[in-house]
Amino acid sequence: MGLKKLGRPLRSVFTKLLLVMGSMGLLLYMGIGGVYWHVIGESRLQVYQENAVKYTDYLIRELGSPPSHKRAQDITQETGLGIRFIENGPGWTTSELVPLPESLHSWRWRENNGVQFARRYNKMIVVRDTPEGKFLFSAFPDETMMMGWLVTLMVVVGLVLFGAFVTIRWILRPLRDLARGVRAISAGDLTYRVPEYRTDELGRLTRAFNHMSGRIQMMLAARERLLLDVSHELRSPLTRIKVALEFLPPDDTRSLLRNDVEEMERMITEILENARLHSRFGRLNKTHFDLRELLEEMLPEYDGRAPGVRLAHFPDQVPLFADPEQVSTVMRNLITNALKYTPADSAPVEISVESQPLQTVIHVRDFGQGIAKDELELIFEPFYRTDRSRNKNTGGYGLGLSLCKAIMEAHEGSIAVNSVVNAGTIFTLNFPQHPEDKLEKNLPAPAA
Ligand code: ADP
Repeated sequence: MGLKKLGRPLRSVFTKLLLVMGSMGLLLYMGIGGVYWHVIGESRLQVYQENAVKYTDYLIRELGSPPSHKRAQDITQETGLGIRFIENGPGWTTSELVPLPESLHSWRWRENNGVQFARRYNKMIVVRDTPEGKFLFSAFPDETMMMGWLVTLMVVVGLVLFGAFVTIRWILRPLRDLARGVRAISAGDLTYRVPEYRTDELGRLTRAFNHMSGRIQMMLAARERLLLDVSHELRSPLTRIKVALEFLPPDDTRSLLRNDVEEMERMITEILENARLHSRFGRLNKTHFDLRELLEEMLPEYDGRAPGVRLAHFPDQVPLFADPEQVSTVMRNLITNALKYTPADSAPVEISVESQPLQTVIHVRDFGQGIAKDELELIFEPFYRTDRSRNKNTGGYGLGLSLCKAIMEAHEGSIAVNSVVNAGTIFTLNFPQHPEDKLEKNLPAPAA
């Protein structure tokens, strides 16, 4: 797993909340533990130690003089209290678990009523100096019971953390749904609605989000409707103007007017065609045809248009399963653009085909002015024209490429662009391959 993948769960709000809860739990535990230790623990220790003094007094008396090892062993047996006795010699002990006095240096010492207490962790040794010798008393904590508690504690902490995990996940679920909604809407699916199932703040956010996307959808639909209606309505007056033009005497003004009218007609056709392809009812008339044949019929239209168009790296047959009319529209748009934005003295526009598994890839390449990097994404938007072409009188309304994109998407294919300013532009069309349309193998390498 890469570091990036590992970093993502660490950066999530979810993990942060869990960490905050964990640290808060730990701090509270330490705070409460500290108060308990210092206030309650200390006063209880005082009581315990006073009792311990009295009890060990009693035990020392009970052991007699000299202290009876046998009696001490009985007491250890009965009460679990270890007793070590040291006279001048080595002395005796009822359990090896009672440490030797030499090993108690590093323990915490405390005196109560003239009696020494040595403490470390959960162990406490009572040290009594008597005229007979030194007594050490030690109660052994039950280690196995402590381990049992420790395991129980860990299981409880684990369960609490798991509960917190599940709860936070549940609370944050609308955020994940919202993220999915934002992705869907930015990908263009304005009909996407985020499921609403909460009444809390996140639920309100979800409802506001759905309301917003609904409004945007309505606004866009209204705008599109207006554009379509106006375009539609413009058709009849344009036809009437065209007819009227025929009755004018044939001079320059008439041909200028006719050119303008034809351009307006083209634009309206593009708008309506675009809308038709975007609508769910737009139909493609797909057939099997040869792209080379189609292009060879089309290219003579560009004869005499400098710098010219040529087929480069183009096999004898390029079978496609698509709508030939629409493919012609795409090719015409790309070729016209390439010629429009290329100076007459540069190398000719090249059309080539690349063999790829499962798809047919077509490149249209020019050596013209190119497109700036930050505009590459925008040129497929309707009515977008780069600054350079806005300043120049190159004709067009920025609809051609948006139509090409709509056509390619209707074919479940794609269109992409690659460009270097002042060096040239390559448009790449990607058609999914129909099982019958196998391109011949060993095609020449594409013009890169
Ligand atoms: P237009 O009708 O303005 O050509 P398009 O949608 O066909 O509209 O293209 C959008 C913009 O993309 C154009 O205005 C132009 O700036 C830019 N463009 C398209 N093709 C090329 C190209 N081959 N070389 C340079 N710029 C291009």
